[in-house]
Amino acid sequence: MAEVDYPTSWYAATRDADGARAPLATREEADVAVVGGGFAGLHTARLLAQQGKRVVLLERRRIGWGASGRNGGFVGPGYAQRSGALIDQLGLDHGRQLYAQSQRGVAIVRDAISELGRPDILMGSGKLSISRTDQGAGFADRTRRLADQLSASFEPWETSRVRAVLATARYHQAIHDPTSFHIHPLNLALALANDIERQGSAIHEGTEAIGLDRDSNGWWLRTLHGSVKARHVVLAGNADLGAVQPRIARAVLPVATYVAVTEKLGPRLGQAIRWTGAISDTRRAGDYYRVVDGDRLLWGGRITTDTTEPRRLREMMRGDMLSVYPQLGNIDIAYAWPGIMGYAPHKMPQVGEIEPGLWVCSAFGGHGVAQTAAGADAVAAGILGDPSRCHLFAPFGTGWAGGPAGRAATQLAFWGLQMRDWWDEKRQAQNAETLRT
Ligand SMILES: Cc1cc2nc3c(=O)[nH]c(=O)nc-3n(C[C@H](O)[C@H](O)[C@H](O)COP(=O)(O)OP(=O)(O)OC[C@H]3O[C@@H](n4cnc5c(N)ncnc54)[C@H](O)[C@@H]3O)c2cc1C
Repeated sequence: MAEVDYPTSWYAATRDADGARAPLATREEADVAVVGGGFAGLHTARLLAQQGKRVVLLERRRIGWGASGRNGGFVGPGYAQRSGALIDQLGLDHGRQLYAQSQRGVAIVRDAISELGRPDILMGSGKLSISRTDQGAGFADRTRRLADQLSASFEPWETSRVRAVLATARYHQAIHDPTSFHIHPLNLALALANDIERQGSAIHEGTEAIGLDRDSNGWWLRTLHGSVKARHVVLAGNADLGAVQPRIARAVLPVATYVAVTEKLGPRLGQAIRWTGAISDTRRAGDYYRVVDGDRLLWGGRITTDTTEPRRLREMMRGDMLSVYPQLGNIDIAYAWPGIMGYAPHKMPQVGEIEPGLWVCSAFGGHGVAQTAAGADAVAAGILGDPSRCHLFAPFGTGWAGGPAGRAATQLAFWGLQMRDWWDEKRQAQNAETLRT
């Protein structure tokens, strides 16, 4: 059986009992072999299994061990790249179709939760994306115009409405998306895995794909003690793919981010946060958080290309919470953990067929819970003969992410953007102070 267990997190502490699956130790045959047991691989496998394909999915550690089992749990449309930038780059029609595909991802997640008979996985509805600087009088019109362009249902909230539900002077206007929701991501991953097996496909944990060969009949995916022969192979390994396909592994840059969950805080949390949906701010490396388990604060934030876990992670996260809600006072952090997001230089996912029968579904960055389902839907449709949804992602290639130099350049870019956010906030605060005096 797979020996690796889940790293400590609130999700691992509250996960469904689910025994480890046996590593692959034989030669198997399948219609499709999938590398990676995160949401990208799981949705791909499940969508194909639902269409009668036999899938073998290989996971190096445990199902949901990577980003999928330790993220903020926010499910919403859009991508890591902003929708406005996509429209500027690709034109309105293409930008709108990409957004619609992400909405399809949201629907796939929502439907899966219902089909799996697991309403408990859905933990709250709606999302506020809040600005920490005043967006001025044109904010509401700009927001409505973008929603109109995208056929989206998000809407502007003025500052007074935001502050009526979130007791902090840090926040200004927000975009409210009623179609977003938040979930227990690890339990969704486990439930998806069980459903894949129920439909006759196989999952092997503790099994790393280490090599890939091709002959006239298809692909051979090699592992340490076995192999899978399949017409199609889907690479869904995020930033951790390794030797199985070096070109794709090099195209995805690992970026760390962190999540912390407090001890139970009692009524003071409800006095500060009177909103049961998901909350994030719009800075480049902004905070994202929600209330879980009645009165615990689950807080995510920070990004860095240094993937070693900071020694003072709990103190850092506590400081971030108190910088927005100082009234929470003494808070104890019960859990804090890091996670790795995979980014391509263009901040869009890599979705499509890169050689005949070899597919990639990866690089979802920090916006991946619904987007992995959107990518999986496109790849599954492609394997079943309809490439049109994959074509939407064609402009975003699988180029080199730059190795260590790329990492350094990305870190510098992050710092530059963070600096700009900090400066915008500071300048507004100074201007407000000048006006008052
Ligand atoms: C802390 C954190 C918070 C986040 N918050 C949010 C959020 O609130 N909302 C949101 O939309 N997105 C969020 N994200 C992003 C989102 O979690 C990811 O984009 C998404 O889960 C990626 O799914 P994936 O399947 O591509 O990757 P992963 O979940 O990382 O899965 C990849 C799997 O492939 C396996 N693997 C890799 N290579 C091999 C191999 N060679 N052989 C076998 N197995 C292999 C790995 O072990 C891993 O389990 C967050 C990410 C992090 C890290």
